[in-house]
Amino acid sequence: MAENLSADFVVIGSGICGALAAYKLARAGASVIMLEAGPRVTRAQLLANFRNSPRRSDWMSPYPFSPWAPHPVYKPKDNGYLVQAGPYPYPAEYIRVVGGTTWHWAAHTWRYLPNDMRMQSLYGVGVDWPCTYDELDPFYQEAEEIMGVAGSAEEHPESPRSKPFPLEPVAEPWAMRRLRERLQPEYPVVGNTVARNSRTFGGRPACCGSNNCQPICPVDAQYHGGLAVDAAEAAGVRLIPNAVVYRLEHDERDRIVAAHYFDPDKQSYRVTGKTFIVAANGIESPKLLLLSTSERFPNGIANSRDMVGRHLMDHPSTSLTFDADEEVWLGRGPQSPSSINTLRDGPFRAEFSAYRLDFTNISRVDSTTQRLLLDGVYGPEFEKRLRYSAAREMNVKTVLEVLPRPENRITLSDRKDALGIPQPQVHYAIDAYTRGGAQDAKKHFTRIAELMGGTNLRFTPDDAFANNQHICGTLSMGNDPNTSVCDRYGRAHDHENLFFIGTGVLPTAGTCNSTLAAVAVGFWTVAHILEEQAGVPSGKRAATGAGAGT
Ligand SMILES: Cc1cc2nc3c(=O)[nH]c(=O)nc-3n(C[C@H](O)[C@H](O)[C@H](O)COP(=O)(O)OP(=O)(O)OC[C@H]3O[C@@H](n4cnc5c(N)ncnc54)[C@H](O)[C@@H]3O)c2cc1C
Ligand code: SF4
Repeated sequence: MAENLSADFVVIGSGICGALAAYKLARAGASVIMLEAGPRVTRAQLLANFRNSPRRSDWMSPYPFSPWAPHPVYKPKDNGYLVQAGPYPYPAEYIRVVGGTTWHWAAHTWRYLPNDMRMQSLYGVGVDWPCTYDELDPFYQEAEEIMGVAGSAEEHPESPRSKPFPLEPVAEPWAMRRLRERLQPEYPVVGNTVARNSRTFGGRPACCGSNNCQPICPVDAQYHGGLAVDAAEAAGVRLIPNAVVYRLEHDERDRIVAAHYFDPDKQSYRVTGKTFIVAANGIESPKLLLLSTSERFPNGIANSRDMVGRHLMDHPSTSLTFDADEEVWLGRGPQSPSSINTLRDGPFRAEFSAYRLDFTNISRVDSTTQRLLLDGVYGPEFEKRLRYSAAREMNVKTVLEVLPRPENRITLSDRKDALGIPQPQVHYAIDAYTRGGAQDAKKHFTRIAELMGGTNLRFTPDDAFANNQHICGTLSMGNDPNTSVCDRYGRAHDHENLFFIGTGVLPTAGTCNSTLAAVAVGFWTVAHILEEQAGVPSGKRAATGAGAGT
């Protein structure tokens, strides 16, 4: 290998977390190499893939599957990549391409509640974070300004902020307006905070309400990891796609000295650096650490206390579908616009899970069509029933909290991918705490349907929890190395120059989507590294990053 692959920082993973951290480091003048397992993709090609897909409601179908960087696929059937060790399935969905999984996210960008970070002190369950909400506030703000987060501060007092939302709220779809009007005053329905343009921002247009947010926004009104990569490269980051990192190498002082990667032909390369940041998501990051065994670290890098991969969480969902007594026509506007937030906190959290109630606005045309065809309904009867369901069907789901439990974890399976790398294995259960929240929600489901004049109520079965793809906890930060993987700044307890950025570092799940928190904590990590290395106060560093979205 003729080339010198070396940089101040080596970032592994080009998803939204890795790319924005790399961007911020490059803007501060550092040399950065970003290694990405998957191929480059263009939005135009992804859009064409979507339009040509026979399975448009399959959100993974536009995204290329690479044998050298496999990801889980569940339609038309499970590809078996993520090995399920039970007892409950954890069908995580993520994308291994340049830009990562937020190519097809719903762009919810909630802040945690301050109490989500003090679960042990307040409620005697879960853990406390090693940092406070107030410490993270400027980094949340920085992330929101880059991503162009839209929201209303009046509607969201539960997550206090020192500065306004960068963008005003996105227009409320008709169905959500009817929910807001008919559920008040019993249930305040609020607009979700979202990385979705309510006006032109970052050179991208405002949301035009086409209801295609997942699998891909046709006009790029949502922020995503692809945009973060563009910003990182423009700032000077060197991206190497199709670089599957399979081992981290350490020296005799336990410092990481190199990342080894395979190209698609299994040719191996060695990349050296001063500081390493693993940002390959909540499953692939712990997998890489577990793969990186040595004589001194037989259980893998950063894993001297067997904590890597443990405390896996998500936000399981149960739901109710019903037919409203008026025509609301879901499908106009974004897919996931509104929620009820009042059940996200309270003393009950000592006993059962908090939750958010989330209203879908996904058009019912596709799902109803499929159902009717399966039932053998055709002709005028088909049209009548399709119109009825498309106009009146509504759905409300829980977004439940999961506690960090060490037995819920990612390990290595004995199955190997095309490069001979062990596939990840997941051990997961849904405990009584989370099930208690799901039971509690049923009375609210029923009452919401009642207030909407609902008929034909269809609850999901008690043991049918859907995944929400928020892979938290597997690289938890904490003050105690016996129960966490990294410290409050994301630094591995075992390795001075190794840091983690991503949802895996979040020690509790709360009741909101986790990416914004992961990016904010990542910015706090980067600010700390820069401060430590250059003696610049972290508050100033936090301010230098803003601008990728403007
Ligand atoms: C359908 C769907 C909807 C979602 N909606 C929301 C939402 O509304 N709000 C929200 O907060 N979150 C949402 N999420 C979750 C969100 O997408 C993730 O939290 C987010 O992508 C995490 O960012 P990341 O950068 O840590 O990981 P990723 O985006 O997964 O990126 C990780 C990158 O690392 C690369 N990589 C992996 N292994 C290696 C390796 N060995 N070597 C080199 N590179 C590697 C991958 O190829 C990938 O590009 C959603 C997820 C899905 C699937
Ligand atoms: S509703 Fe349409 S324009 Fe708006 S974010 Fe979703 S896909 Fe993009």
